[in-house]
Amino acid sequence: MDVLDKAELHDGYRSRCRANRLNAAARQGQEYELDAATPAATLCIQSIRDTVPLVEGCEFAVLHATADGGMPHTRAPNLICLPTGTLPKGSQPTPTFCETIAHEGIHIHQRKYPAEWRALLRKKGWEPVATEAIPEDLRAQARLNPDTMAAPYWAWKGAHVPIPCLIEGGGLNDIRTRWLDLRTGAILHTPPKSFPGPGHSYDHPFEEYAYAFQTSARSLADLNELLASK
Ligand SMILES: [Zn+2]
Repeated sequence: MDVLDKAELHDGYRSRCRANRLNAAARQGQEYELDAATPAATLCIQSIRDTVPLVEGCEFAVLHATADGGMPHTRAPNLICLPTGTLPKGSQPTPTFCETIAHEGIHIHQRKYPAEWRALLRKKGWEPVATEAIPEDLRAQARLNPDTMAAPYWAWKGAHVPIPCLIEGGGLNDIRTRWLDLRTGAILHTPPKSFPGPGHSYDHPFEEYAYAFQTSARSLADLNELLASK
């Protein structure tokens, strides 16, 4: 059993992708498998724990370049998945690579400390929403994201739920974010006026804060400080 099989036992991500028509179609042609890292990339991954100690205790998997559209992501409980295109050419972590790893480390932290994250996000205006509150046809279009799958739906200001929807015949990155208004059931194409923007396109608060903190969170102490200051 490899690390991907183990992760699958924890999160069921790949089987859920296969079971959903649009999610399966958007990933067609991708190879979601382990791949070999170059010796330089292996050294780079080995040394990343020194530069980004936040990921101490995490496991790493190098995946085929096409896996999940080439996007880095995490799997349960502590696996950071890096498609080969996301690895630096040399043996030293680049600043961009450090940010990517910090971003993924924050997602692992979100998996590990869901109560702490719920508390932070509540303060910022987000409430988790039960899956049953989302109409089934909308759920069927939602792009599955392994980083947010454990708590996929959140309402902004108690009412507005962003949902990243896949489109018929589109790829994994052809997303249209829809905003479900829980009060009326209306599905809107634009965020509510109260939502910070413009240009604020993240469709999940876990992503919003992973992006917000990735430039400065290098250690657990950094991240705790960022969480406490919010
Ligand atoms: Zn992310």
